[in-house]
Amino acid sequence: MMAGDFMLCPVCMRGDAGKIGENRFFCCHCCVEFNNAAEVRIITENGDLVKATVPGR
Ligand SMILES: [Zn+2]
Repeated sequence: MMAGDFMLCPVCMRGDAGKIGENRFFCCHCCVEFNNAAEVRIITENGDLVKATVPGR
């Protein structure tokens, strides 16, 4: 377990997604947020969150 509040992004696999809340993380590379269950939500231009599935996982 790492000390920092960072998670591996399930979309781009970068390890620098930042924690934004309890069981919520945000990847600035993909502009998506996700939780510990790897449920990804895409943030649209309107600011809505749209649930997305991650292909191949
Ligand atoms: Zn990402």
